[in-house]
Amino acid sequence: MNALLFDMDGVLYEGERPIAGAVDSIAWCRAQAIPHLFLTNTTSRSRQALVDKLAILGLNVSAAEILSPPVAARSWLQQNISGPVALFVRKQTASEFNGLEIATPEATDVAAVVLGDLGEEWSFARYNRAFRLLMDNPDAVLIALGMTRFWRAEDGLRLDAGPFVRGLEYATGREAVVMGKPAVPFFKSALALLDARADETLMIGDDIRGDIGGAQQAGIKAVLVRSGKFRPADLEQGITPFALLDSVASLPAWWHQQGW
Ligand SMILES: [Mg+2]
Repeated sequence: MNALLFDMDGVLYEGERPIAGAVDSIAWCRAQAIPHLFLTNTTSRSRQALVDKLAILGLNVSAAEILSPPVAARSWLQQNISGPVALFVRKQTASEFNGLEIATPEATDVAAVVLGDLGEEWSFARYNRAFRLLMDNPDAVLIALGMTRFWRAEDGLRLDAGPFVRGLEYATGREAVVMGKPAVPFFKSALALLDARADETLMIGDDIRGDIGGAQQAGIKAVLVRSGKFRPADLEQGITPFALLDSVASLPAWWHQQGW
């Protein structure tokens, strides 16, 4: 093993509290010079906001070390698509796509349509424009920044990006490339950014489906931690992690036991 992928929420911290030993394990990873990335499905906060949160918890992580769905999408687009990209994302998310050729609001010929959680910023005209761009260009790729169905806002439940992506899939008969765990392209983006092979990379997570199942689909071995959202029943869902650790604090000793 020569590279590490860390889930964040439930592995490094729980709510506003760091997991005991997480700081030391990250320090160990750096001292060993093991290439690593922190993977999150969060799109509501920018990477800098995550960096600031981690810093308060004593975890020094830079924005460049965090892989979020927009960052993975940019990397995927750079490798697979040439031509203008139409963004249907919030303003703070749009900045993550700097460096790509972004379609103008009048453009009719685009190579990809990127769809995130736009919330109140959706209108029929805007949604229909995404639909038309896909219908006008049989080769245009639909990229989804996650498939979350809904979330709980202060005033009640709200639709997230997932239902809007499904709506376009239904209307166009095309399938979206989904960025975010457990989608394989998300893990492939992580490998590409680290320049690492799947069979030399280890994923650490607390989500049996998103982290462990997703990584395994991409050919990556994955270790489940008993922190965060872990429940014993997770082990009865037909997904077998490579190993089970009490928390990320156990990672350095366990890693050395493996002879890596
Ligand atoms: Mg997690």
